[in-house]
Amino acid sequence: MLERFDRVVRCRDGHLFTTVWVPLASFKAVRLSGRRWQRCPVGRHWTMVAPVDEAGLDSATLAAARSIHDIRIP
Ligand SMILES: [Zn+2]
Repeated sequence: MLERFDRVVRCRDGHLFTTVWVPLASFKAVRLSGRRWQRCPVGRHWTMVAPVDEAGLDSATLAAARSIHDIRIP
């Protein structure tokens, strides 16, 4: 299901949210390619976002990021 492609990302302004990040090849490739131009639902702006290592977030920050999801599945 699409849920497995949910990733917490951070925009250029530091906003955290969850988005559907479908890797083209593999997770490793995503890590390397890193960034994507998309709309940030927190700041309501277009920006560059990059996946965040969820293990590096505290639980409150992660919960907040998980609560904001741009549900726009292509
Ligand atoms: Zn933002």
